[in-house]
Amino acid sequence: MYVDFPDAPATDTTEPYAAHLAPSAAWMRTAGYGRLRLSVTSLHRWIRMPADSTSYGFARGLTFEAHEKYVRDAIAAADPYTDFSRYDMVYIVPTRTAAAIPFSPTYLYDPATSGVAADGTRLKWAVTFGQDMWRWGHKVVAHETGHTFGLPDLYSFTGPTHQYAGGWDIMGDIAGAAPQFLGWHSWKLGWTRDRQVAGLAGRGHRTVRLTPVERPGGTKIAVLRTGETTAYVAESRRPVRNDRSACSTGVLIYRIDSATPTGEGPVRVMSANPSTTPPAGCTQLDLAAFQPGQTFTDPDTGVRIAVRAGGPAGMWSGSAAPEEDSDLRGSPGRSRAARPPRSARPGGRGPEQAVGVIGGPDSFWEHLPFVRSRPTTKQPPQHLTAPFRAEIAQKKPSLFGEYDTRRFFVCW
Ligand SMILES: [Zn+2]
Repeated sequence: MYVDFPDAPATDTTEPYAAHLAPSAAWMRTAGYGRLRLSVTSLHRWIRMPADSTSYGFARGLTFEAHEKYVRDAIAAADPYTDFSRYDMVYIVPTRTAAAIPFSPTYLYDPATSGVAADGTRLKWAVTFGQDMWRWGHKVVAHETGHTFGLPDLYSFTGPTHQYAGGWDIMGDIAGAAPQFLGWHSWKLGWTRDRQVAGLAGRGHRTVRLTPVERPGGTKIAVLRTGETTAYVAESRRPVRNDRSACSTGVLIYRIDSATPTGEGPVRVMSANPSTTPPAGCTQLDLAAFQPGQTFTDPDTGVRIAVRAGGPAGMWSGSAAPEEDSDLRGSPGRSRAARPPRSARPGGRGPEQAVGVIGGPDSFWEHLPFVRSRPTTKQPPQHLTAPFRAEIAQKKPSLFGEYDTRRFFVCW
C-alpha cells in the first residue's frame, strides 16, 4: 500500500513504486530454491495518512510505539479499500515527497500488547519503507522480509558496520557482493532440509561434499556444534545466481551464536585472507572464503575445518573437538529424537557434536507468517535446532522471559 501525508502529498502515480520493488519476489524465490513464494498485491491508490510525515518521529530515532502508530494509521486509513484478513503482512510505501520518512524499518508485533488490527485480523508484520528504498533497490524487500521471518541483522550496530559478516547474506548487507542467504538461515527457514545438513555425532572426523548454497540440492551446510548456542558452519559459495558478483568464492566458514542479539554479531565470518587488501567494491570479509589447501582452526574449541578440494562443489572436512575441551562439556541440548541421549549411549562421554533437532513451541511458529500459511510445518518443527532456543527466547518475551522487546522489534 502507498501512503502520502498532509504535509507531503503525492505528485505522481503508485506504479513506479511497485515496479521498483517488484523484482524482489523473483529474487527471493531464487534465494529460497523455489520454496518461498512472495505474493504481493498492490493497492494502487494513495492512502492519505492522518498526520504529517514529520510527526512520526523517524528523524529523531524511531521508537517501537511511534512505529506502531505509523502502521496503525496506515492500516486504518486503507481499511475502507482492502480486506486485511486476506494478507499475512503489509508493505507500506511512502510518497517520494515524504523526506521525513528516510529509512525502512520492519514492524514485528509485540505479543504483550493488543497491537494493530483490521477486518478481524491482527496485523503482526509490516515493512514501512523509507526514501532509502530508492538507494537500496528491490533487495531492501528481501532484507526486511527476512526480519519478519525472524532473521537478525548481521551487520554491526556499533563500530565498523561490516565487521562481522561483510557482504555475505542479505541480512549482513543489502548491497553486499554475495547476498544469498547463509545456509544456516536457509535451514532455519526450511528452504534447506535436515537431510541437507551434515554434522558430526561425536568426536571424530568427517569429509563432506558441499554443493553451493546458491543452487538447490545436495548437502548445503556442515555444522560443528561447539556449545549450547554456538556452532561453526561451513558452506560452499559460488559466483552464480544471487551471488554472481561475489568477491571471493570457496568454502565460507562462520561461527554462529544464537544467544547473541541482532546487530551484535550472531554470525561471525572467519576470514581465510585477513591481511589481503580488498579491491574496490569489496569489504575485507568479502574475501573470507577458504580455498583448497586452506584450513581453519579454533584452538578454543578444537574445531578444525580443512578445505580438501575445489571444483564445482567444494569439499569440507571437519574435525570435532578433542575430548579435553572444556567448552564442549556443557549441556549439549536435546538431541535428535531418533538418537539416544548422550548419557544413554554406551561409552558416550563426548559432547553431542551434531546439531540436535528439537521440538519447538507451536506458538513460535505462529509468530512467523510463512509458517502460518503452511500449516504442515507446525508439526514438530524439524529444522529447529538447539542453538535456536536462545534466539526464540529473545523473540517471545511474554512466554520465555524478559527481553527488551522495544529494541529488538524495531530493526532495519
Ligand atoms: Zn535489518
